[in-house]
This record gives sequence, C-alpha cells and structure tokens, in this order.
Amino acid sequence: MTAEAKKEENKTKKQKPREIKFKCQRCQKEVPLKDMVSVTRFRPVLIVCRNCADEMR
Ligand SMILES: [Zn+2]
Repeated sequence: MTAEAKKEENKTKKQKPREIKFKCQRCQKEVPLKDMVSVTRFRPVLIVCRNCADEMR
C-alpha cells in the first residue's frame, strides 16, 4: 500500500466513524439509515424499517 492510499483510508475512516442507526418506530429494532422508510400517509410521518413498511402496505 502506498503512503497516499493509506492517507486516503484514514480520511475515509474519520468521515464515517460508524454506521448511523435509527430505531424503528414500530418494531423498535435498530436498522441502518438506508433501510429506513418514512411512511408519509401517517401524520406525523412514521419512520419504520423496510420490514414494517412492507407489512403496513
Ligand atoms: Zn420495524
């Protein structure tokens, strides 16, 4: 690995220390942000995991 590549790797690690997780408002499971779905037909909008969004369909 070159010094340049190593530097780049450190930078990436700093920007993304760990995966951001949200708690599903329906099943209370912690899921990554990319698996969260906002159900806009509820007011206030419900933020749930993909599983729950499928079940609520
Ligand atoms: Zn859920």
